[in-house]
Amino acid sequence: MRNKTSSWGHEDNTQDKYIRFMLDANPTFLITTTGKHLEYINKTFLNFLGYKEMEEFKKNHSCIDEFITSINGQPYSHHKHRKDRWVRHLIEKPGNDHIIYLQREHVSEEEAVTAHLVSCTAFPDFDKYVISFTDITNIEKERCLLKQQAMTDSLTGIFNRNGFNHALSMEIKRAQRYGSPISLIMLDIDHFKKINDTFGHNVGDDILKKITKLISENIRVYDIFARWGGEEFVILTPHTDSKHAALLAEKLRDLIATTNFAPVKKLTCSFGVTGLIKENCFAREMIDSADKALYEAKRGGRNRVCIV
Ligand code: GH3
Ligand code: MG
Ligand code: MG
Repeated sequence: MRNKTSSWGHEDNTQDKYIRFMLDANPTFLITTTGKHLEYINKTFLNFLGYKEMEEFKKNHSCIDEFITSINGQPYSHHKHRKDRWVRHLIEKPGNDHIIYLQREHVSEEEAVTAHLVSCTAFPDFDKYVISFTDITNIEKERCLLKQQAMTDSLTGIFNRNGFNHALSMEIKRAQRYGSPISLIMLDIDHFKKINDTFGHNVGDDILKKITKLISENIRVYDIFARWGGEEFVILTPHTDSKHAALLAEKLRDLIATTNFAPVKKLTCSFGVTGLIKENCFAREMIDSADKALYEAKRGGRNRVCIV
């Protein structure tokens, strides 16, 4: 009896079957591909993608690139005429492990996106690659959660100093690249210690949360708002010069001064505003300038806005 031709491109024999069985039973996803065309896919990967047989898969896809949504943190979308682009990304850094996100259809939203540690090895003398995918979805979820927690203030839910610093240096670089203005507002609650002393720490915490909500509702979505520490907050306003940032600060100052924060009768904040002064300005200098302006506002009698 004739053996049938396998997806390896030659006739099945016992050894071939044995190797295929081992690869198919492997929990790691394995493929061999030119990048454009899939040559072999193990059963574990095939089933994960929602297919029973490779022929069935090949009717709908020529390779797995259509399932890729990101490679090493960079968004990826497949391209009809450059289908092997994803493999080029992988072989640019041979020997390195890469992180690829896949997205599947016909599964629940929770299961649709998965993360994989990917290694790619070129076959000697062929323009073909053997690529393995290890599922690291749970580790990636945990890593993202920890990263998010490290950047978030637990009381108010907005960025903490760490998160803000991260965003600030990126936004400064962006502003410098495009020559667009950017400003920083720093604000501090006036006589907050007295509020804690009079009404207790819980009321103090509630005030911090209420001020956070009030400010969040009155800034633009692309402004970056953070708790700098204690009763101090910062707002980074991209595409805004210091004159317009001072107008926003004045609006917020008035809003806070006229809002009812019962049981506290009178609540005000002082504001310091600065713009990106020099082309080679650093995050640290912007923070220092805003801090200086805030100090002036405090010294000038509080409940006011000062610009440096
Ligand atoms: P000034 O007008 O000069 O800013 O006076 P102040 O009393 O606001 O400033 P000071 O630095 O003397 O006191 C800040 C207070 O903020 C003291 C501290 O207990 C309180 N505080 C810092 N973080 C928190 C917090 O998370 N919750 C509460 N309830 N209070 C906090
Ligand atoms: Mg204060
Ligand atoms: Mg303070």
